[in-house]
Parts: sequence; C-alpha cells; structure tokens
Amino acid sequence: MTDCLFCKIVARQIPAEIVLETGRALAFRDINPQAPTHVLVVPKAHHENAAALAAADDGLADDLLTACHAVAVQEGVVEPGYRVVFNTGTGAGQTVFHVHAHVLGGRSLTWPPG
Ligand code: 5GP
Ligand code: ZN
Repeated sequence: MTDCLFCKIVARQIPAEIVLETGRALAFRDINPQAPTHVLVVPKAHHENAAALAAADDGLADDLLTACHAVAVQEGVVEPGYRVVFNTGTGAGQTVFHVHAHVLGGRSLTWPPG
C-alpha cells in the first residue's frame, strides 16, 4: 500500500518510536498516548482491519496477539493487567485502516470504554 501511514512506518519512511519487532509484526508508541503504556502493534503486511487479518488465515493474527503480549511483558504491565483494543470501523473510532492493536496499560482502565 503506497498511501498507508502504517505501511510507511513499517517501511521506515515515517519515524516512530519502535519498541518491538518480530518477523511479521512491528510495535511502536502511539503518537497521542491514552495511558502510560500505549503501543500500537501492526502486521508488516497490509490488512484493513481485524476481520481481514483473521480472514487471511495464515497465522498472522496469532503472531500479532503474541507480539501484543510480548509488548506488555516488555512494558511491565502484565500485572495488574492491560487492554488490547482493535477499533474496527469508523463508528468504533478506527482512523487508520491498516489493522493495529492498541496495547494499553500502566493505569487503571475503566469499563465500559467510551
Ligand atoms: P485508531 O483510531 O485507528 O484505532 O488508531 C489510530 C492511532 O494511531 C491513534 O491512536 C493515533 O494517535 C495513532 N497515530 C496516528 N498517526 C500516527 C503517527 O504518525 N505515528 C504514531 N506513532 N501514531 C499515530
Ligand atoms: Zn498499510
């Protein structure tokens, strides 16, 4: 995808504070953090949203969730807990249409989310 913000971050054409890289995923800090830990975890391959990622059915969704947990371990937020969010669709707040998991932690997180 030539005009995708997160593809450009994956390609290192746009700078980001990268915290973890695996064979198929990249994790970097959100530019507008909503918690002390707010990391975005993206597949290097372009998929529009979580449903498209799952439909690809090649293990990439598994890799992404594994990377999310690795980020939480690295950030020290496994205890007392962290949240993984996939905003899917504009009505849910998705603004970048390259699937990304938000890994949020480091503060008390209320439920339900806004
Ligand atoms: P969404 O709203 O699609 O679920 O999440 C997109 C996220 O990307 C937002 O939390 C936003 O702050 C973040 N974001 C937007 N532009 C950039 C950028 O250029 N760099 C980084 N690191 N994060 C970005
Ligand atoms: Zn992309």
